Amino acid sequence: MHKIKRKNILSTSTDAKQIPEMELYFPKFSKKLEKQLSQEEICIQCHGCCMYVTVPLDPPEDEDTIQMYIWYLYHRNIEIYLDLYNQWQILMKTPCENLLPSGYCAIYENRPKICKEYDPQNCSRTGKDYKVLFKTPEEFLKYLSKRKIKK
Ligand code: SF4
Ligand code: SF4
Repeated sequence: MHKIKRKNILSTSTDAKQIPEMELYFPKFSKKLEKQLSQEEICIQCHGCCMYVTVPLDPPEDEDTIQMYIWYLYHRNIEIYLDLYNQWQILMKTPCENLLPSGYCAIYENRPKICKEYDPQNCSRTGKDYKVLFKTPEEFLKYLSKRKIKK
């Protein structure tokens, strides 16, 4: 087992509030500009889909799962949503290491399949891609309690 160096422990801040909350940004352009810009130019200015990771989740149907999701939501830059196909997803707001300050991808030719297949005609910039979004445990619990009442 590795020994944890005391120096490392002391240099790690325990104040989560010091880590900025990230907001995802998907620019909208005027209709005129939208027609003038190529898709590549739009994506370079946007690069919104390079700023997060999503992973499918099981539906929160039992107490253990609900408790797990509450724990996720207590973490900065983590959100949970129900997508348009009723799939639960965790959203981790964190930029890809390959995103260059210019908005280009440093590994464009070898970017992962998911990046190659992502359709700009049907992406997060062009439309709402979730039914319900939870940023806090309180929002999530409120939604669950309302759903329980409706049953
Ligand atoms: S595919 Fe959509 S979300 Fe991704 S960079 Fe292009 S316009 Fe932005
Ligand atoms: S690999 Fe390239 S295209 Fe894919 S998320 Fe990272 S920067 Fe964006």
